[in-house]
Amino acid sequence: MNNSIVWTIAGSDCTGGAGIQADCKTLHNLGVQACTVITAVTAQNSSGVLEINSVSSEVLASQLNALAQELPAQVIKIGLLTNIQQVEQIADMLAFYKGNWQQSPVVVYDPVAIASSGDHLTEEDILVAIKTKLLPLVDVLTPNNKEMQNLSGVYAFSWQCLERAAQALLDLGVGSVVIKGGHIDIDTSCCVDYCTDGEHHYWLSSKRISNTQDHGTGCTYASALSACLAQGYLLRDAVTIAKAYINQGLTRTQQYKGQYGAVWQGN
Ligand code: PLP
Repeated sequence: MNNSIVWTIAGSDCTGGAGIQADCKTLHNLGVQACTVITAVTAQNSSGVLEINSVSSEVLASQLNALAQELPAQVIKIGLLTNIQQVEQIADMLAFYKGNWQQSPVVVYDPVAIASSGDHLTEEDILVAIKTKLLPLVDVLTPNNKEMQNLSGVYAFSWQCLERAAQALLDLGVGSVVIKGGHIDIDTSCCVDYCTDGEHHYWLSSKRISNTQDHGTGCTYASALSACLAQGYLLRDAVTIAKAYINQGLTRTQQYKGQYGAVWQGN
């Protein structure tokens, strides 16, 4: 463990497979300190999301303030925000931290909207607030296929579509985009991620690992990326390590029937 701190602002998943629980396990595994700001408490299992309880703006603010006083972060990783109020509140706080902290935090946003069960986790009208208020403050955006479509309006019919989608997201003000290929089926034999800051472009391809146990892969990938960025890795190296980490999780957890989620917890 080194002195790097990552805040994860995200929802709780009681199964431990996704959300803030997956984030904490990943951040800890990769040697950084995880501080948590819980946005919602979800009740879910393999049959779906049973309940979502968003925390109030007061509870959100008091968690953020407590951390800001003593534990400013190198990286702030954002996952589930359930409603417009939370998006606006987090955007306001990020703008403040970026302008006032001695070292401006790197903001990684994993724009979680739908659980792996297919159930919606956010209110439907949240997209405009995300695009106009939050994205301009985001350094690295990590959408999966569906999230990329929702935010950019571009569908993944070909590899060129990913480049077009990423450009549309850069045009909304994000610093860099990492499109996670796990749910993109242009080529079903491999999993291809695309990373760009508008100037540099990286394609990361690996053999597709068939594992039905993919709950939490998006959270785990974005957390691994955040852990590496907090330790000073360049984005291109951070995505490489994050992809290796998630591939290791998907490969190893295949053998463990009882485990829920893709974070590898063994040795
Ligand atoms: N955050 C929470 C609280 C969740 O419950 C989920 C999925 O169920 C996610 C995020 C997203 O999970 P994934 O990493 O599978 O996209």
